[in-house]
Amino acid sequence: MPAVESLAIVVDQEECIGCSACVDEAPETFELDDETKACVKTPPGDELEFILSAAAACPTEAITVTDIEENQILYPEA
Ligand code: SF4
Repeated sequence: MPAVESLAIVVDQEECIGCSACVDEAPETFELDDETKACVKTPPGDELEFILSAAAACPTEAITVTDIEENQILYPEA
């Protein structure tokens, strides 16, 4: 399991519908901005399993999680 520090967590705000499912799963990593779009906190404060749960919970597949040390996309799964 990669360390959270080695993750790139990206929200495609064009796809985000502001449902806050990601915030419910990983509230120390995701928050909604003034335009009700999800953004990523710096640094992310949740463990990897919750960050991946948040990505999986997104109804529009707006969240991508990459292990930048291994150059491996963790979500969406291949
Ligand atoms: S779960 Fe997806 S659509 Fe919902 S707020 Fe988070 S990024 Fe946006």
